[in-house]
Amino acid sequence: MNQQEVIRQLQEMFGEYFITDEDVLRERSSDLIGYRRWERYNGAYLAERPMGVIMAQNTEDVSKALAFCNENRILVVPQCGRSCVCSGTETYEGSVVLDGTAINGIIEFDEENYMVTAGCGTPLEYLEEYCNKKGYTTGHFPQSLPLAQLGGLVSTRSIGQLSTLYGGIEDLLVGLEAVLADGSVVRIKNVPRRAAGPDLRQLFMGSEGNIGFVTEVTLKLFHLYPENWKGAYGIDSVKEGLAVIKEIMQAGYRPAVVRLHDAVEAEMTYKKFMNEGESILLFVCEGPEGVRNATGAAIDEIAKKHGARPLGEKPVELWYQVRNDTCDDLYRANKQGLLRDTCEISGNWSDIYSIYENVLRRFPEEIEDVTQISAHSSHSYQTGTNMYFVFSWKGVKDLAKSEQQYDTAMNIIMEETLRFGGSICHHHGVGKYRTRWMAQEHGSSFPMMYKLKDAFDPNGIMNTGTFLPKR
Ligand SMILES: Cc1cc2nc3c(=O)[nH]c(=O)nc-3n(C[C@H](O)[C@H](O)[C@H](O)COP(=O)(O)OP(=O)(O)OC[C@H]3O[C@@H](n4cnc5c(N)ncnc54)[C@H](O)[C@@H]3O)c2cc1C
Repeated sequence: MNQQEVIRQLQEMFGEYFITDEDVLRERSSDLIGYRRWERYNGAYLAERPMGVIMAQNTEDVSKALAFCNENRILVVPQCGRSCVCSGTETYEGSVVLDGTAINGIIEFDEENYMVTAGCGTPLEYLEEYCNKKGYTTGHFPQSLPLAQLGGLVSTRSIGQLSTLYGGIEDLLVGLEAVLADGSVVRIKNVPRRAAGPDLRQLFMGSEGNIGFVTEVTLKLFHLYPENWKGAYGIDSVKEGLAVIKEIMQAGYRPAVVRLHDAVEAEMTYKKFMNEGESILLFVCEGPEGVRNATGAAIDEIAKKHGARPLGEKPVELWYQVRNDTCDDLYRANKQGLLRDTCEISGNWSDIYSIYENVLRRFPEEIEDVTQISAHSSHSYQTGTNMYFVFSWKGVKDLAKSEQQYDTAMNIIMEETLRFGGSICHHHGVGKYRTRWMAQEHGSSFPMMYKLKDAFDPNGIMNTGTFLPKR
C-alpha cells in the first residue's frame, strides 16, 4: 500500500484523531536529546518526519492502530509525555506516531490494597497530587515529574529522586495492560508477588515501546508522612563523599534522598553554604518518625566520621525548590549559546570513582570550549551508585560538527563506563542514540535481546531502532 493510501485509511479509521499537520509532524519528529535541541534552537529540524500522529482515545484504538500497522508493515513510534532525552521518540520517514496522552485518568484507587490504576497518558504530577490529597504518595519523583506520563515511565524503566527508599519503577509497578504488535490486548494482574514463571512485567519495563504499547498501569501506594529528616554536609572530595554513601548503604540504612554533588555543582547551586572546593552531600529520610530519625542519626554519625561538615537543613530545602527546574530550563543554556546535556550511568563501588575521574579528565582534552563538566550521584545501592554527568560547551553553528562534538562527549562517557564494567544507562533509556553501545553493554547475552524483539514483534514495527540497533 502506498503512503497516500495508508494516510487515507488511517483518516477513515481515526477521523480527527489522525493528525497530518506539518507543524505537528515536525514537533513530533525528535525529542529532548541535547544535539536535537541545539538544532531546533538554530531553526533546523533534521530528524525524519512521520506521516501522521494517531491520538488514541482508548485501548481499542491502540489495538486497531497496531493491527493495521502490523499488517501493512508501518513503523510505529509510541509517545506519551515526550520528555525522552535519548532519541527514543525520534521518528522515521513514513512512520506513524501512536500517542497515548488521551488515555488518561485514574481508573481505580484501591485503598485497601495500597494500589492505584491509571491510564498510560496520566501525567505523573497529576497522579501524585491526586494521591497526596488522600494521604498517599507514589514515591516516584523523576526530575521530569512535570512532563512524564505513566506509559513512558514504565517503558523507560524510570527512577525518581526518592529511589533509595521507594525504588525505581520496577519496584513500584504492580501490574499493567498492554497491546502487542498484532493488536492483541494483554493484562498482567495485580498481586503482591508471583513465582509463576518469569515475571512478564519485566518485558515491558525498559522495552521503550519495542514489546508492546502500555495502556494501563497499576502502581503501589505508600503512606504519606508530612514530616521528614533533612541533613546536608560539606565534604572535601567526591571520593570521600562516595565513601560516606557506601557505608550508609552497606550498613542497611535507607534514606529516601541520597545525593552527592561535586564541587562544580555545589558551587553553582549551594555556593553560600560551601567552603572552596567542597562537594555537598544531601540526605532526606522519610517514613514513620522512629525510622526516619534513627536513619538520620546514623547518617549524621557516619558523615561526621568521614570528616563531613554539617550544613543543616537549609541546602536540602533549597534542593527541594530547584530540583525540577531543568524542565523549564531546557532551552536556557541554548539561549546562552551553549549546547548542554546530561548523561547517567551506573557502576559498582569499586569502579564508580574511576569512571567519574576519567570522564572529567577527558572532556576538556577532547572537546573544544567546554564550559561545564560535572557530576552527581543521586541513586545508591548496596553494590554501587549512579553517576549523572552534566556537560556543556560553546555551541557551533555548523550542525554536523555540533553532532560530532556530541558524539565525542557521549563516547567518552560510554567508553569509560564500559571500561570499568558499568552500565551505559542508569535510567534515561537507550533510545535510538545509545544503541551503538548495546552489544558491549550486554556481551554474550546481547543476542537474547533480538530474540525477544523477534518473538514479540516479528515484523519489526514497534519503535524499531530503539534499544537495539535497526537491522
Ligand atoms: C528535564 C528532564 C528530567 C528527567 N529526569 C528523569 C529522572 O529523574 N528519572 C528518569 O527516569 N528519567 C528522567 N528523564 C527522562 C524521561 O523523563 C523519562 O524517560 C520518562 O520516563 C519518559 O516518560 P514520557 O511519558 O515523557 O515518555 P516519552 O518521552 O513519550 O517516551 C519515552 C519512551 O517510551 C516509549 N513509550 C512512550 N509511551 C509508551 C507507551 N504507552 N507504551 C510503550 N512505549 C511507550 C517511547 O517510544 C520512548 O521510547 C528526564 C527527562 C527530562 C527532559
